[in-house]
Amino acid sequence: GAADPFVTTWVSSFVERVRSSIDELTDLDRRAGDGDFGVNMQIGLADFAVDENASPAAVFEILARGFLGNAGGTSGALFGAFFHRVSVALDGAGASTASVAAGVADGLAAITDLGGAQPGDKTMVDALDPAARALRDAGSVELSAALAEAAEAATRGAESTTDTVAQRGRASYIGDAARGVIDPGALVVSWFFAAA
Ligand code: ADP
Ligand code: MG
Ligand code: MG
Repeated sequence: GAADPFVTTWVSSFVERVRSSIDELTDLDRRAGDGDFGVNMQIGLADFAVDENASPAAVFEILARGFLGNAGGTSGALFGAFFHRVSVALDGAGASTASVAAGVADGLAAITDLGGAQPGDKTMVDALDPAARALRDAGSVELSAALAEAAEAATRGAESTTDTVAQRGRASYIGDAARGVIDPGALVVSWFFAAA
C-alpha cells in the first residue's frame, strides 16, 4: 500500500510522547502497580523507526512487533495485539475513519479477550472503550476530526481511572492504595489518540 503522511506523523508523535514520558509512567505504575510499565513501554518502542515509505498497515505492524517481540508485562502483549489488529484493518484499505474505527474496535476486542477487563476495572480499556465508541459514532467525518473526538473520549476515560480501584493486573493487588493515581495504560491510550 501507499504511504500516508498523516498516519506516519500520528504514530511518530505518539512514540515520541511515550518515549519522553518513561519516568512519569514508571512513577504511576510504582504508585498503582509494580513499577515496570515505563520500562515495558521503553523496550516495546526501542526498535521503532520512522519509515516515510511504509503504508499505514506497515507502520502499525512495526509498532505491534516491538510490543510483541521485545516488551514484557501485560501491557506489551495487550498493546501488541491491539496494534496488530489496527494494522490488519488498515491493510489494503488505508487509513479512513471507517477502517480506523474497525481496527480500534477489533483491537479493543483482542484486549478484552486476552485480559478480561471491563470498563471501570482501572485499565487501558477505560480509555479505549469510549474512544472506540466515538470513532464508531463519527460516521463519515474526516479521519482527523474523528480522532479528535476519540481523543476527547479517551482522555475523559483515562481521567476516570483516577477515582477507581483496579480489578485487573498488578494494580489490583494493592486495592485502595491505587485510588488517586491515573492508570498509566489508559493514559498512554489517551496519548495515542491525542497524537493524531
Ligand atoms: P503488569 O501489570 O504485568 O506489570 P504493565 O505494568 O506492563 O503490566 O502494564 C500495566 C497496564 O496494563 C495497566 O496500567 C493497565 O492499563 C493494563 N492492564 C493490566 N492488566 C490488564 C487487563 N487484564 N486488561 C487490560 N489492561 C490491563
Ligand atoms: Mg506493571
Ligand atoms: Mg509487571
